[in-house]
Amino acid sequence: MAHEWRNWTGDQRCAPAAVYRPRTLEGLSYAVREAAERGLAIHAAGSGHSFTDAALTDGAMVRIEALNRVLDADRESGLVKVEAGISLASLSDALWERGLAMENLGDIDTQTLAGAISTATHGTGARFRNLSAQVSALELVLADGSVIEVSERDDPDAFRAARVGLGALGVIYSVTLRAVPAFSMRRVDSPQPLQPTLADVDELAARNEHFEFFVFPYTDTALVIERNRLEGPPKPRGRVDAFVNEILIENYGMDILSRVARRFPASIPRLAGFAARQFSRTERTDRGYRIFASERRVRFTEMEYAVPRQDGPEAVRRVLELVRARRLPVGFPIEFRLVAPDEAFLSTAHERETAYVAVHQYKGASWEPYFRAVEEIMDSYGGRPHWGKRHFQTAETLAGRYPRWPDFQRVRARLDPEGRFSNAYTDRVLGPVRG
Ligand SMILES: Cc1cc2nc3c(=O)[nH]c(=O)nc-3n(C[C@H](O)[C@H](O)[C@H](O)COP(=O)(O)OP(=O)(O)OC[C@H]3O[C@@H](n4cnc5c(N)ncnc54)[C@H](O)[C@@H]3O)c2cc1C
Repeated sequence: MAHEWRNWTGDQRCAPAAVYRPRTLEGLSYAVREAAERGLAIHAAGSGHSFTDAALTDGAMVRIEALNRVLDADRESGLVKVEAGISLASLSDALWERGLAMENLGDIDTQTLAGAISTATHGTGARFRNLSAQVSALELVLADGSVIEVSERDDPDAFRAARVGLGALGVIYSVTLRAVPAFSMRRVDSPQPLQPTLADVDELAARNEHFEFFVFPYTDTALVIERNRLEGPPKPRGRVDAFVNEILIENYGMDILSRVARRFPASIPRLAGFAARQFSRTERTDRGYRIFASERRVRFTEMEYAVPRQDGPEAVRRVLELVRARRLPVGFPIEFRLVAPDEAFLSTAHERETAYVAVHQYKGASWEPYFRAVEEIMDSYGGRPHWGKRHFQTAETLAGRYPRWPDFQRVRARLDPEGRFSNAYTDRVLGPVRG
């Protein structure tokens, strides 16, 4: 196929009519204007790490990875301006060289900065907000090729809309971030009984800067992960040690189990029990950003819901009960994280203390009945789906879950009155642009 584009899992594909790969702001501005003049719909794609069709288009796809330079960095204020196609990994390296860091990150760091903020990508930490809350200004290219800068001071509504914009307002050229002084971190993983872990979530969250856990369905052992800042320089473990733990055990071990589980679904409860017994206490210290992110070589698909924080533990219990009761063939763990509220209009943590519950299925395994049943549970809490992860919601079902939904739509109509930056995903989850 001429320009086939696929996401990371390989199950979201499109064939854009045109693909642009600008290397400069002028090139980006030219590409957007030209595509609009050709009458094409326009959508930016990051690194394709969304499980939804968020980045897909059959119009003009703007690939932003070559827009990856650090434009300005001020160590004193922590303000750092970068081109928005920079990967979180390259950004973190560049910040470290300047004595700076992102205050929080998610599980991986291969996404582009623009892609990550556009779907409200988050890490964990009850006192930390999602990545888009670290943004202090953005430059957006609109359909006529013009460039606008949006910030809290100059245009608070546009700023709060554009921080988590699903690519529906224009193409983000640059992001100015509020970085923090660089820090080292310790990560401790430990197997813990599930029920006490669920009962102690508040205490674990208060005791740790970044707390999360994983649990395999059909088991009652959680792998609790505690990450905390550390005084002094990092002491990374040897490369061989890191390779054995992360690549061989977490990735290849998981891949083999997942293949067996996909082929012999009836064996899943036993395999899950076996996998949970492999959880062991491990400890690692390194540069903060290296402790946040891990390598993910096993391909899967995922759904994740943001629910009010106090409902999180019960939501996990209900998902586990659902899997057991319906004997669903689920060989991938459930992940639980916490995030502080923020004010971006479409942030999944918009103005509420949030627990995230994520469910996964191995690539090629049946996911839809499981995810639909989980979504029913999350609906009962007014759950908000991660914009980059699978869900079945529509603009009608989502509007009531976001108090500032009408404000987002007003900004959208102002910045993109013709709906030039729409795609099938935004049509479904945001509806048409209404002037
Ligand atoms: C293995 C794996 C682990 C993950 N871990 C986490 C995690 O820990 N926490 C979490 O919250 N999420 C996580 N995600 C989800 C991921 O962070 C998001 O889906 C993110 O949006 C992907 O970024 P991307 O660069 O790949 O963007 P894409 O998926 O390519 O695009 C995402 C959205 O951003 C828009 N976009 C991209 N560039 C621009 C631009 N320049 N201007 C305007 N809009 C733009 C696109 O149009 C699209 O709507 C994970 C995904 C995978 C595959």
